[in-house]
Amino acid sequence: MYSEEHNVFREAFRNFVKKELSPHVDEWEANGAIPRDVWKKMGAEWYLCPWLPEEFGGSEADFLYSVIIAEELIKGGAVSLMTPLHSDIIAPYISHLGNAEQKIKWLPGSASGDIVLAVAMTEPDTGSDLAGMRTHAERDGDDYVINGAKTFITNGIHADLVIVACRTDKDAKGTKGLSLICVERDTPGFTKGKKLEKMGLCASDTAELFFDDCRVPVANLLGEENRGFYYLMEYLQQERLMCSLQSLAMAEKMLELTLAYTKERKQFGKPICSFQHNAFKIVEMMTDIKLGRAFIDNLILKHMRNENVVDEVSMAKAWTGEMANKMAYQCVQLHGGYGFMDEYPISRYYRDVRPFSIFAGTTEIMKQIVAKNMGLM
Ligand SMILES: Cc1cc2nc3c(=O)[nH]c(=O)nc-3n(C[C@H](O)[C@H](O)[C@H](O)COP(=O)(O)OP(=O)(O)OC[C@H]3O[C@@H](n4cnc5c(N)ncnc54)[C@H](O)[C@@H]3O)c2cc1C
Repeated sequence: MYSEEHNVFREAFRNFVKKELSPHVDEWEANGAIPRDVWKKMGAEWYLCPWLPEEFGGSEADFLYSVIIAEELIKGGAVSLMTPLHSDIIAPYISHLGNAEQKIKWLPGSASGDIVLAVAMTEPDTGSDLAGMRTHAERDGDDYVINGAKTFITNGIHADLVIVACRTDKDAKGTKGLSLICVERDTPGFTKGKKLEKMGLCASDTAELFFDDCRVPVANLLGEENRGFYYLMEYLQQERLMCSLQSLAMAEKMLELTLAYTKERKQFGKPICSFQHNAFKIVEMMTDIKLGRAFIDNLILKHMRNENVVDEVSMAKAWTGEMANKMAYQCVQLHGGYGFMDEYPISRYYRDVRPFSIFAGTTEIMKQIVAKNMGLM
């Protein structure tokens, strides 16, 4: 499915990661942050939002270029650099729902790295059940006045523009009456809480956001008022597909590291991969990867043909997230004590892969979606 151009691009991006990103990951993880200029560096090389039209600073690249970027960031160890979320999950909301003014205001900066994007759905009391969202935006003349709090927001500290899911119709119940409103950095009443400390993805910035009589112009509404939940569901297909292929890329990388280690490491006079128990374990993991690769590549192609693959993508998100986490456990086990040491990369992948079965909808919620669509619930 990849053309020669895609392969050349992969090689070029892999070299960029090797030269510009991988050597700095340890320092970023230790500092708990990725410097802002990394975003600009990515933007300068057209590695942010590559699919955007040229007029907005993109190169009109197909979705496979985004897939390549997401995979190679993971393979190069820069899992914490959340540019795929920015480029392929959040910028599409602006591109698809934004009016001409919004697009020209925010998209070129998103492609250059001058504007970092975040999306804020989760609240302290509302995670899986988005219908329970309490952050609300009341209309006052030509403004919305937003009050509420969001948590676990990726890119939260760096963010220059946050798409905030708010309740705009206080009488509406459940998933009705929600809207997507863009809030810019430095808007009075909008504050960022502390950067949250995490067990993995330590360099990625995850923050709480607070809205206290935060006044934004009605012109910052994305799409139509009260259609927010519908939009979130519509664009979650790409978000969950991205997460699935990232989980798979992590599994591939973990197995690659483990194969190299177990061929090298000897005990009882033999490489540890040659003990039948370990060899069979490795074969089972390789089988999972081959199955996952066939499934995900097929979904990528269907998604590129604009097919509705919500159910299959939900299955993929659940399956790859769990598979990669199980693989992380097995791969650390095969590394023995060295697998527990920070100096071995498998240890970081083990920690970084954990939230892939949690964010963008947990494994359980993915199964719930499919079960409902199958008429089981
Ligand atoms: C690193 C990280 C980054 C994130 N980035 C963002 C972001 O950028 N923007 C954003 O809006 N959010 C973000 N999130 C939040 C993430 O989307 C939520 O954590 C996730 O949706 C789960 O919500 P919760 O944590 O409140 O868990 P809960 O909803 O409280 O769930 C707890 C457990 O109960 C289970 N559960 C809940 N309901 C059911 C049910 N009906 N049936 C069976 N089991 C159920 C869940 O599966 C889970 O196992 C991020 C989270 C993490 C960890």
